[in-house]
Amino acid sequence: MALLQIAEPGQSSTPHEHRIAIGIDLGTTHSLVATVLSGKARVLHDEQDRVLLPSIVHYSSRGTEYGDAAKPFITTDPKNTIVSVKRFMGRSRTDIKFQHPYTLVGDDHQMPAFETAQGRKTPVEISADLLKQLKERAENSLKNPVNGAVITVPAYFDEAQRQATRDAAQLAGLNVLRLLNEPTAAAVAYGLDQDTSLASDRNYVIYDLGGGTFDVSILRLSQGVFEVLATGGHTALGGDDLDRLIVKWAKKQLKLKTLDDAEYAHFMISARKAKEALSDHETVELKVLNHHLSLSRAVFEEIIKVALDKTISICKRVLRDAKLQLDDIQNVVLVGGSTRSYAVQQAVQEVFNQLPLCTINPDEVVAIGASITANQLIGNGQDGSLLLDVTPLSLGLETMGGLVERLISRNTAIPVARRQEFTTYQDGQSAMLIHVVQGERDLVEHCRSLGRFVLKGIPPMTAGQARIEVTFQVDADGLLSVAARETTSGVHAQIDIKPSYGLSDDDTQRLLLEGYQFAEEDKNLRHLQETRVEASRELEALNQALKADAALLSTTQFEALNQAKSRLEQILEQADIASLEVAIEQLKIHSDAFAALRMNQHIDHALKGTKLDDWSNSN
Ligand code: ADP
Ligand code: MG
Repeated sequence: MALLQIAEPGQSSTPHEHRIAIGIDLGTTHSLVATVLSGKARVLHDEQDRVLLPSIVHYSSRGTEYGDAAKPFITTDPKNTIVSVKRFMGRSRTDIKFQHPYTLVGDDHQMPAFETAQGRKTPVEISADLLKQLKERAENSLKNPVNGAVITVPAYFDEAQRQATRDAAQLAGLNVLRLLNEPTAAAVAYGLDQDTSLASDRNYVIYDLGGGTFDVSILRLSQGVFEVLATGGHTALGGDDLDRLIVKWAKKQLKLKTLDDAEYAHFMISARKAKEALSDHETVELKVLNHHLSLSRAVFEEIIKVALDKTISICKRVLRDAKLQLDDIQNVVLVGGSTRSYAVQQAVQEVFNQLPLCTINPDEVVAIGASITANQLIGNGQDGSLLLDVTPLSLGLETMGGLVERLISRNTAIPVARRQEFTTYQDGQSAMLIHVVQGERDLVEHCRSLGRFVLKGIPPMTAGQARIEVTFQVDADGLLSVAARETTSGVHAQIDIKPSYGLSDDDTQRLLLEGYQFAEEDKNLRHLQETRVEASRELEALNQALKADAALLSTTQFEALNQAKSRLEQILEQADIASLEVAIEQLKIHSDAFAALRMNQHIDHALKGTKLDDWSNSN
C-alpha cells in the first residue's frame, strides 16, 4: 500500500537550538529513560547509578515510594504496592481476569481504580507517577527541562490502552511527541533505518522475548522510510514460562508429585537463577529444597524446546502475513531479557539462517531507540526516516444482517485514512446507525464493539439513493476517529474512539486466532447473512408494489404470490442457505410476473398520457 506522510509534531523552527527529547520504555516489570547527547543515544541513571526503575509504586499514609524503594512492600504491604500496572492500563474490570492482590473499585465497564492508603488511584495516575520519576531523573541529569518525549507501547496495545498511556504521559507533564511500538524502537536503536548501503528494500525481523510475553514484528526499509509490515506474538509466552518448564523438569527428576505454594515459589526462583546463570556458563547447579541438580545448556535447550518452537511458528506465520520468504530477511534483532539465553539465540539463528543482532543490551534497546526517534521528532536530528506502525486488528463497521464491512485491515501501516460509501436500506430512512467494530471475524457479534453513533437528518429518499461517506482515520498513535457524511445534504456526524476500557491481550490473541480458525465458517455465515438481506430486500420491495398495484393480479395469481411470499418470510431466520435460495427462486417466478404486469400498466399509462399530435408529428 502507499505510504502516507506523517505530519511531524514538535518540529523545531530554529534548527541549531538543541531541544531536550527523551525516550521512555514504560515496561511491565521495569521502566527506563534514554536521551541523545552529542549525537549518541544513552540511558540515564538515577542518583544511585541505576538504570532500570522497577515499575512498582507503594502508596502509604506516610508517603510514596517508587521502584527499588517500593519493592520490599510487595510482601509486607501488598494491597498498597502496585506492580505491573501496565496490565491494567485501558482495561475494564471485566477484562481483568488475572490474579492480583488489589481492591479495585469502579464500574464493571470502566478502568477501575486501586483502593490504597492514599485513596483511589487509577492505572493512569499510577503510570503517571512512574513517568514523573523518569522525567525528574532526566531533568536532574540533563540539568534542563524536557521538551518532548516518545513513549513505547507493545505492538498489541489497542486504542484504549494507547489512549491510557498517552493520558498518563500528559498527567506526568510530558509533551508526547509520539507513542511508538516497542519493536520499532528496537530497530531504530540498531540504526537499521540509517542503512542505505543497498539500493533495494530491506526487511528486518524483531524478536522480543521478555518475562511474560513474546512479540515479533517485520519491518521494511524502503528508500529511507521504515514501514512495519506485520506483527504477531503471544501474550503468555516468555521467560516465566521457561522457568516453569525447568520446574516441571526438576520435579520429574526428583520424582516429586506435588509442590505447595511456598515450595513452588522457591522452585521458580531457583529455576530463574539457574537459567540466567546458564547464559554465562555451560553447566549450572539447580538448588531446590535439599537437592542439587546439574543443568547443562544441552538439557536446558531440550526442556524449553516446546516454548521456543511456539515462538518460531509464530515467526513463520508473521512472515506469511508479510508475504516474505526466509531469504528476504536481512537482519534479525533480539530484544527482551530472555534473548540472553544461548538456546534462544541458537534457535533464532537456525530458523533464520543468520546471526541475530544482540550487541545492544536487550533491556535497554527499546528506550535507546525511543530516544533516537524523540530526538528526530523534536527537530535535532538530520532528516531521518519516518516510522510507520500498523493496526493490530482490522477495523470496520456493521452493515445489514449483522455483517462486518472492513475498512482498514489488520497490519495496515498507520497513519491511514480510508473512505467508503454506504447507502440507506429503506425508503425515507432519515437516520443511520454507525457501529464501529474491531476484529477478524465476519459477523459483528464475534468482533469487539468500539463505539456507535447515529447520523441524523438524512433527507427523505428512496432506498439506495442516499450516499453516505464513512471515513476511518487512524493517527500516528493508533487512535481512531470515524466520520459519516451524507453527500447531498452535507449532514455529518463523527466520533473519536476513546473507549473507557480496552481489549485484554488474551482477547486480542483470541480474536486473531478465531479469525484464522473460523475463516471457512465465516465465509458460509456471511453468504447466509447476505442471502437473508437480499431476501428481506426482495420482500420489502414486493410489499410496496402490492400496496400500489395488487389489483392487477387475478385471485389465483395473488394467492400464488402470497404463498411464495409467506414461505420465504417463514423460513427467513432459521433456514439453511439452500432452502433459502429455493424459496427466493420460487418467489421470483411469481414476483417477476407481477413486475411484468406493473410494467405493462405503466406503459399503458404513459401511452394514454401522450397526445395524438405527438404521434402524428413524429410519424
Ligand atoms: P519484560 O519486557 O516482559 O518486562 P524483560 O525483557 O526485562 O521482560 O525480560 C525479563 C526476562 O528475562 C525474565 O524472564 C528473566 O529471567 C530473563 N533474563 C534476564 N536476564 C537473563 C539472562 N542472563 N539469561 C536468560 N534470561 C534472562
Ligand atoms: Mg520488554
